[in-house]
Amino acid sequence: MDHFLYRDGALFAEDVPISEIAAAVGTPFYVYSTATLLRHFRLFDEALEGTDHLVCYAMKAASNQAILKTLAQAGAGMDVVSMGEYLRAKAAGVPGEKIVFSGVGKTELEIRTALEGGIRQFNVESEPEMDVINAVALSLGKVAPITVRVNPDVDAKTHAKIATGKSENKFGIPIARAGAVYAHAASLPGLDVIGVDVHIGSQLTELEPFRLAYRKVAELTETLRSEGHDIRRLDLGGGLGIPYTRSNEAPPLPVEYGQLIQEELGHLGCEIEIEPGRLIAGNAGLMVSKVIYVKSGEDRDFLIVDGAMNDLIRPAMYEAHHDIVPVLEPAPGVEPQPYDIVGPVCETGDTFAKQRNLAPLQAGDLIAFRSAGAYGAVMASEYNSRPLIPEVLVQGDQFAVIRRRPTFDEMINRDTIPEWL
Ligand SMILES: *Cc1c(COP(=O)(O)O)cnc(C)c1O
Repeated sequence: MDHFLYRDGALFAEDVPISEIAAAVGTPFYVYSTATLLRHFRLFDEALEGTDHLVCYAMKAASNQAILKTLAQAGAGMDVVSMGEYLRAKAAGVPGEKIVFSGVGKTELEIRTALEGGIRQFNVESEPEMDVINAVALSLGKVAPITVRVNPDVDAKTHAKIATGKSENKFGIPIARAGAVYAHAASLPGLDVIGVDVHIGSQLTELEPFRLAYRKVAELTETLRSEGHDIRRLDLGGGLGIPYTRSNEAPPLPVEYGQLIQEELGHLGCEIEIEPGRLIAGNAGLMVSKVIYVKSGEDRDFLIVDGAMNDLIRPAMYEAHHDIVPVLEPAPGVEPQPYDIVGPVCETGDTFAKQRNLAPLQAGDLIAFRSAGAYGAVMASEYNSRPLIPEVLVQGDQFAVIRRRPTFDEMINRDTIPEWL
């Protein structure tokens, strides 16, 4: 559920007409709904009620300071995967003890920065990384809390580019080697081994892969405890999918996911962490774009819009589907017609949708790409020298630009000319 609905024939973000935002900031732009962000965060928080837990928003999904602050004020922790994300979380006011550091390639500098600034735990993905965290912690006179990310070798049944829990993926350590790896970790004086971490992929639309993975985590926890490790925290990753189409069968709900966690892991008495990203931000954001031309091809009509693959890369990168809706609701009974919806970038890959049925549109009309809040703005680039598009946050009847559109000069002047030219 989200807060982007038609009222009297016009699309709104909460209580603000999309057309009003477009007039103020120009197109294309991203717009997020505060109520939707908070609602999704609370669904997870409530799903784990009664269990000691922390919902750590996976901020790689959408990392604008205003989004982070909105969620942090509601009590969210953050899952970060780089120094930039760590510093962004701190800048948004998230205390170190609510920041979890994930990722396969943490550098010494990233580890030192997090240890000095405060960190809830590192989710460690390899033995070499473990040794570096140990060394950095000792050099600072600190002890680093860690979990080890295990790879449970389960099929997440999602797109290959976002599956992470199979043995062929680069993530985690094979669960079969966990005993040896935990023994090594326990021998390092700069580490406090507090738990187990798992994250099997993104956009999961079934609960079964989670169940298989969490069952393996439960078994591992009991084994590790019997070997003398004080396992007291389980980080269960993110990955719960969202409905990208309204017609599709809906993915499982956070409350069902919470029940599964209780069923499979409740008996262990561990503190539970989860790291949802997409489900919190995905349906809390739209990308709004304007039709530049309607071009009639040989056998099809193209809607050429001012947003492009550099602004929203998911269709090009993951063959992702986004529902596309007109900002002015079509009159009842208007016959839809098929369009290929494309951006202006000089690549055939710059195609958002093929043969999509929409009520007839004209140059100047606004359209909205739904479910664009996660892995949208954060994956944007300036390919084709198109400046990053602005982000807008709505709350009730207010809206604010939370990242403005850079000027062309700003974009160009980031380059420097060597003195020999
Ligand atoms: C990407 C990622 C997440 C978030 O995944 P979503 O599908 O957006 O919920 C959580 N944890 C880790 C370690 C990740 O890499």
